[in-house]
Amino acid sequence: MKGLMQDWPLTVMSIIDHANRFHAEREIVTRTVEGPIHRCTYSDIHLRARKCAQALVKLGMKQSDIVATMAWNTHRHMEIWYGIMGLGAVCHTLNPRLFAEQLTYIINHAEDKLIFLDTSFVAVLEGVADTLPDVKGYVIMTDREHMPETSLKNVHCYEDLIDAEDGDFAWADVDENDACGLCYTSGTTGNPKGVLYSHRSNVLHALAANSADALGMRSVDAVLPVVPMFHANAWSITFSAPAAGAKIVMPGANMDGASIYELLDTEGVTVTAAVPTVWLMLLQHLQETGVKLPKLERVIIGGSAAPRTMIEAFERDYGVTVMHAWGMTELSPMGTLGALKAGMEDLSFDEKLDIKVKQGRAIYTVEMKITDDDGKELPSDGVAFGHLMVRGPAMAGAYLKDEGGNILDKDGWFDTGDVATLDPLGFMQITDRAKDVIKSGGEWISSIELENTAVGHPDVVEAAVIGIVHPKWDERPLLIVIAKEGSNLTKEDVLGYMEGKIAKWWMPDDVVFVDEIPHTATGKIQKLTLRQTFKDYTLPTAAAAE
Ligand code: ADP
Repeated sequence: MKGLMQDWPLTVMSIIDHANRFHAEREIVTRTVEGPIHRCTYSDIHLRARKCAQALVKLGMKQSDIVATMAWNTHRHMEIWYGIMGLGAVCHTLNPRLFAEQLTYIINHAEDKLIFLDTSFVAVLEGVADTLPDVKGYVIMTDREHMPETSLKNVHCYEDLIDAEDGDFAWADVDENDACGLCYTSGTTGNPKGVLYSHRSNVLHALAANSADALGMRSVDAVLPVVPMFHANAWSITFSAPAAGAKIVMPGANMDGASIYELLDTEGVTVTAAVPTVWLMLLQHLQETGVKLPKLERVIIGGSAAPRTMIEAFERDYGVTVMHAWGMTELSPMGTLGALKAGMEDLSFDEKLDIKVKQGRAIYTVEMKITDDDGKELPSDGVAFGHLMVRGPAMAGAYLKDEGGNILDKDGWFDTGDVATLDPLGFMQITDRAKDVIKSGGEWISSIELENTAVGHPDVVEAAVIGIVHPKWDERPLLIVIAKEGSNLTKEDVLGYMEGKIAKWWMPDDVVFVDEIPHTATGKIQKLTLRQTFKDYTLPTAAAAE
């Protein structure tokens, strides 16, 4: 027997309609690319998104076309998202940190028809424009006064386009399973692959990601997404914040510690989200200046493992609750968040930290298990580790144009490429990416755990661990360190500090000091490049073993 409830399509436009109807006055505050702070409301965003959709029609865009953005987190970027999606078109977020060849590949592979860009990225797109046959024009996201000189063809000024419209536009009549967003994974191996989100997957994910044990945003919250809208949907915040009626504070192009602090402070931000490198800069700023953030309640840290010392500093020194999160582009992107459970209130501070360094529990809609190499499920005992497999309604079932072929097993599980443990209370901990784990004498060593232990040393700025070929053990860990300026840190200092904090046989065989550690476009340590740099490196222990 069928239920008798209303058939109400889950579209992202219903989110901004809701915000406009019930939170019209709530603010979106932006540090603009031009400089000054800009204030508008959900009502303004709603109107301008419809004007944007009208402008897109005039520019020849129609349902199912793919329209790209290369932009910082700003109010304009947000209204353009809703404008594109509200037309029934697909918003393709471009990561400006990608190399020129990757950008060319992605834009041509997606067949982007039009690109919205911030003035900051005019040069980036001028550099590749000749290689983009499908792109019919560019919209520069500024007003007439700030329009730059450019060699780009068919260029429009965004504010001129908006000024010419009246906003009398009815959202496209889309099916909830129609595509509305596109984001490529950075593809550490092979070409980048396109994850094509639907209206339904984005709405379900926004609801799940904002449940109380997850982002938990309310209408009284002010949220600052440092995590870029071009990286995995800004962790759903541009959908889940308007659904909740929360104020949004957009950081624009400035993500240094001082700029982020200023916005957190002056805008009374209560919830904020970013990758660990951003929080490293903020904590440095707080420590150097001695300022505090009394209004800030929760910091979400994800994208890479949050070091224990970082969680400790936020919680102990600043009274801010840290929520460690894990996810990936293919998951829309949130998979787990680390809220503590009932019965954990009375644990000591250190015991709570032991739980908070884990990546957290699956949010509703995320199914999760770990398996061995043969696909057999492993126990959730917090000890066994294996391939982390996931499935759910906001997860990729295939990549755009079927790149990579069938990505699900016969039961619909997606292999995340991560290796993890699951404990009996449901907390997941990432051991490593499968390809980064160090295989020593048939056992696995977690590069993440070594890195996080090493950065606990006060003179270590950043650490990376890779496996180096070893004649006896197959691979042994090499620790690569950026030392604090003027610290005279030695190999013995670092290894001495790590002693007792990790299993003896996990101890790196050598430490090298470098000035810089390469990062991917999404801020993760680029292990592939490091392995390339150190491919001829001989460990001091190798000679002894031969
Ligand atoms: P890309 O592959 O494009 O860099 P993603 O953001 O989708 O982009 O990366 C997802 C991967 O990032 C995960 O599979 C995992 O390896 C890593 N990751 C994300 N969050 C965490 C975390 N909290 N701890 C450890 N690794 C993480």
